[in-house]
Amino acid sequence: MLNVIITGAPGCGKGTQSELIVEHMKLEHFSTGELLRQEIAAQSPLGKEADAYITKGNLVPDSMIIDVITSAIARVCGQCKGILFDGFPRTREQAVALEEMMDGRGTPVTLCIDLQVPERELIQRLLTRGETSGRSDDNLETIKKRLEVYKVKTQPVNEYYQSLGKYVAIDGMGTIEEIFGRIAAALTTCK
Ligand code: ADP
Repeated sequence: MLNVIITGAPGCGKGTQSELIVEHMKLEHFSTGELLRQEIAAQSPLGKEADAYITKGNLVPDSMIIDVITSAIARVCGQCKGILFDGFPRTREQAVALEEMMDGRGTPVTLCIDLQVPERELIQRLLTRGETSGRSDDNLETIKKRLEVYKVKTQPVNEYYQSLGKYVAIDGMGTIEEIFGRIAAALTTCK
């Protein structure tokens, strides 16, 4: 199985590249942001609790997200070629939990892809997206908070996967096709 994590700051293009990766590599796509937004739209108790964190630009608690991902993994078909984790893990604790979960299933994480984009470009992309996304977290104040949270909480995930020898940094600037080409090349060499 090819089990891939795509990580990077808000606005780095994870969502766009994830769509291409799952289509070409025939992977199951798990986006924790999407799973949470579905819970919010359904006004479930979990969605209501998550909404308060997301609107402020904070991460939702690890325990909540680990529950969400555990039940999503349990629903995955035994035959799929692998899983793409998009927006998860976002803390070192989540990464450790994921490693345990995947190793326990006998389907370890293959590679963590870190999509790197300069901060000025990230802010511009998110502000542009905010004009049409309708997302409560795509405004300047919340964007700045999310970028700060990314540096403090999520960058340690990169160091964790570096220490496991399962990390690759990818330049996230260029056309969508160029960036996907870099990702596809990295995935081919690790297969
Ligand atoms: P972006 O990458 O643009 O921030 P996402 O859709 O991945 O967008 O996430 C939106 C928000 O959902 C995050 O700012 C955070 O509040 C919450 N969230 C998503 N995934 C996680 C996670 N793994 N752990 C904690 N919070 C998460």
